[in-house]
Amino acid sequence: MLPYKDALNSVLETVQPLTPCERLTADTGGLVLAEAIKAHWDMPRCDNSAMDGYAIAGRSCAKDSPLEIIGASYAGHPFTGTVPAGKSIRITTGAALPNGVETVIPVEDSKEEDGQLCIQTSFSTGQHVRLQGEEFQAGVQLLQAGTLLKAGDISLLASAGVDRVRVYPRPRVAIISTGDELIELGETPRPDQVVNSNLHFLTTRLQECGCEPVCIGIGKDDTASLDEFIAQALDTDLILSTGGVSVGEKDHVQEALSRHRFQKRFWRVAIKPGKPVLFGLLEDKPFLGLPGNPASTAMTFELFARPALKKMAGHTDCHLQQRSGILTSGVKGGGDRQIFRWCKLGWHNGRYEVDVQSHQGSGQNLSIQGANALLTIPVGTSQIDRGEIVEVFLL
Ligand code: AMP
Ligand code: MG
Repeated sequence: MLPYKDALNSVLETVQPLTPCERLTADTGGLVLAEAIKAHWDMPRCDNSAMDGYAIAGRSCAKDSPLEIIGASYAGHPFTGTVPAGKSIRITTGAALPNGVETVIPVEDSKEEDGQLCIQTSFSTGQHVRLQGEEFQAGVQLLQAGTLLKAGDISLLASAGVDRVRVYPRPRVAIISTGDELIELGETPRPDQVVNSNLHFLTTRLQECGCEPVCIGIGKDDTASLDEFIAQALDTDLILSTGGVSVGEKDHVQEALSRHRFQKRFWRVAIKPGKPVLFGLLEDKPFLGLPGNPASTAMTFELFARPALKKMAGHTDCHLQQRSGILTSGVKGGGDRQIFRWCKLGWHNGRYEVDVQSHQGSGQNLSIQGANALLTIPVGTSQIDRGEIVEVFLL
């Protein structure tokens, strides 16, 4: 069976970044830049005050000699006249500094009496002023291609007047559920039916990953029904199916795929849970068939779909980040598959600790809830004891 590392490489070699598009900067939080960005203008746009206080021509003024106050410059309302030596104006933070003045005396260091300013401390010429272009100048590169746009990047672009940018679009991801036993959330199940919980894991996780889920529906366990659902998913960027990829009599996903131009890259990987995972290109669209057990669906999403989506969204490092921590209870390994366990990585007692979740059965949703990392147990390791340092993948 294919080792996880090789299967993941196959996925990452097959999927490609989506074609970049232009978007309003305001709508690009969480997307990756596809171009380097230069400032449209100097920032600050003009010399301005860093404090509330008074602006003076510093070279010609001294402490304790009163200066007449001849006007004011407020943020958004500049003083339009000139300020001769020996005079002053009131000024607020961010207000433009008029010609001829280059020094700000903070309110805290001054006294105003009968329209006269009295400076009560010594000061230096040019103090408390933000000079035009001191943060950045027009034309300088602010962000490089490949930057994941977060709040600080968007505010920087906004301040520099960059209202549109080229980014990698949000991947649109189809979800095809399969199984005659599935019902929608809100319906009352017979004892032999189960709610389509995988759909809700996937839609929520996709949103968390900055993708757009496209729910195709629940396909029946017959080739014709699956065939129809597959056809409806072809206009998305990645197709995920759940269930029906194992060796059961009712597992018809591969048969349905074979009716389309499906180029299989792999089926079955040496991992636990999630062994029957299927991957290939369906009419040039990447297709991941995730096994239906809830913890297997979720695990194979994390192990294969998440890195694939990172690549499609323009990230250059698509692998899950790794951390190490101290195991708080022993875990069993063994067998010829790489084992993954849902766990919580947390800072306790001055160190990172790894708590493995209970209820790790592949059919159970309980193991996933609250997990923020995956413990990996290499092939051939029979046991890892409490207190040992282990590697985990962050989710
Ligand atoms: P399968 O992979 O189709 O053999 O399904 C394996 C197990 O996962 C069965 O117990 C299914 O009922 C369950 N299962 C399959 N799909 C889902 C789903 N979308 N939501 C919850 N459980 C599911
Ligand atoms: Mg099934």
